[in-house]
Amino acid sequence: PAEQLPFDPTKKTLVLLGTGWGSTTVLKNLNTENFNVVVVSPRNYFLFTPLLPSCTVGTIENRSIMEPVRLLMRHKHREVQFYEAECTDLDADAKELTLVRCTKPEEQQSHPNSAANPEDIVKLKYDYLVVGVGGTVNTFGTPGVEEHACFLKEMGDARKIRRRLMDSIESASFSDISEEERDRLLHMVVVGGGPTGIEYAGELHDFLNDDLTHWYPGLANRVRITLVEALPNVLPAFDKKLIDYTHSTFDENRITILTRTMVKQVNEKSFIVQNPDGSRSEIPYGLLVWATGIKAQPVIGRIRQQFANVQTNGRGLLVDEYLRVKGAKDIWALGDCALSGYAPLAQVASQQGKWLARRLNSVSSMLEEDSDADIFDLVEKDRRPFKYSSQGSLAYIGSEKAIADLPFFNRNITAGGIATFWFWKSAYLNELFSLRNATLVASDWIKRFLFGRDISRE
Ligand code: FAD
Ligand code: NAD
Repeated sequence: PAEQLPFDPTKKTLVLLGTGWGSTTVLKNLNTENFNVVVVSPRNYFLFTPLLPSCTVGTIENRSIMEPVRLLMRHKHREVQFYEAECTDLDADAKELTLVRCTKPEEQQSHPNSAANPEDIVKLKYDYLVVGVGGTVNTFGTPGVEEHACFLKEMGDARKIRRRLMDSIESASFSDISEEERDRLLHMVVVGGGPTGIEYAGELHDFLNDDLTHWYPGLANRVRITLVEALPNVLPAFDKKLIDYTHSTFDENRITILTRTMVKQVNEKSFIVQNPDGSRSEIPYGLLVWATGIKAQPVIGRIRQQFANVQTNGRGLLVDEYLRVKGAKDIWALGDCALSGYAPLAQVASQQGKWLARRLNSVSSMLEEDSDADIFDLVEKDRRPFKYSSQGSLAYIGSEKAIADLPFFNRNITAGGIATFWFWKSAYLNELFSLRNATLVASDWIKRFLFGRDISRE
């Protein structure tokens, strides 16, 4: 890359929180000429979440869907700084953030915990702030989930699932255990019938069907997969035809779906459900993946406190149609942490990121003439507000079948099956952030086709 302009103390500082879909898209599309840009995130890479379920069983290698943020930074016009840290607090009057240097293992990144050593705390001033911290796993306070379940939100979670899955299968191979214990170890449970739970169950089925049958012929047909969903059906956001198609595909794949069933407690080796008739049962399991959606990150609560009279919704930061945090000055929010009226989707976060970067690019030249120009308000005068344009929903459901709910000339086209699976594959390859990642994912798919998935434990 060409030589970068250095940090310029006369320029305003724009801090981007997060390296997810929203903030990374801002960074990618931002002209850094008129700002000093600082990125703060506990992870130094962007994660292509739609393919995360594939990493839990080795269909795709972890690094293939991770894009180092420094790759993006080094192509920017002006030097960008990156701090691997978690933002834990904000002082809006002083325009100052509190950061905690990231020292916690990746496996714990889905469990934000603000308790930090004083020497890990750093203060950072900003002139403009973009909050794109996403959400965190929601356990609804269900006892035992944090201690015993696996989540599927970050790369560390996918690694943990893969390890636990192999632990269960290898433990079930010992000849000296009871048949009851073997059945427990081989019972794989998914809680939550949203797209995350469905895609994970589909990937797990493929792994058992394609690979385990060869490596563990005596065990493979004893493995059971159960998906537990509190509502009357899975995938409530999808068209009814696709819901039925998913139910019938899961039936064929011998994945049991328990609907109207709510998990009330998770123990080390069993979990308690409330059945549709109100009774309770205890079900033994070997691996339990908790995929019941997201809630706000703790730092969002701290930011809300600063504007308590306006920020009254505990699910996130209320923003206006220009993505400005209501009640705040010089702070924008986007993606899963922003309550903008749209669903928490990668598509939404990345469109918002692109929109915000373009607006900032177009108004930031004002700062060159007048470094005190109020660009926060100029964003509104500059152009029309943000509007989401849905590209449709896609989900993988296992055995090389996918479902698609696509808008087409004001109508919705629904499709499910093997052709949709190829469409799903090509759409995701196309959406991957870089040619580097697209090449890695394509080569993982070819490797899997030729040699199967790698079952060895890391
Ligand atoms: P994220 O992408 O979650 O990024 C948040 C960033 O903020 C991360 O870098 C995180 O480390 C960082 N961060 C967290 N806390 C702090 C803090 N305190 N300080 C600083 N940084 C912080 N959506 C789709 O549209 N299509 C799909 O197919 C799809 N598949 C998915 C599959 C899975 C398994 C999952 C979990 C989600 C999927 N989603 C999908 C949803 C999509 O991933 C989210 O909507 C999207 O990631 C939101 O983007 P974001 O930038 O708001 O947050
Ligand atoms: P979700 O909120 O979409 O689904 C969670 C499900 O868990 C709900 O159906 C809920 O009824 C169920 N549930 C909650 N508590 C329960 C309990 N105690 N027992 C049993 N069931 C319980 O969550 P998700 O699937 O993680 O998705 C989060 C977001 O990410 C959504 O916006 C989703 O659209 C998006 N996403 C999209 C894709 C895709 O488009 N392919 C893939 C993954 C995620």
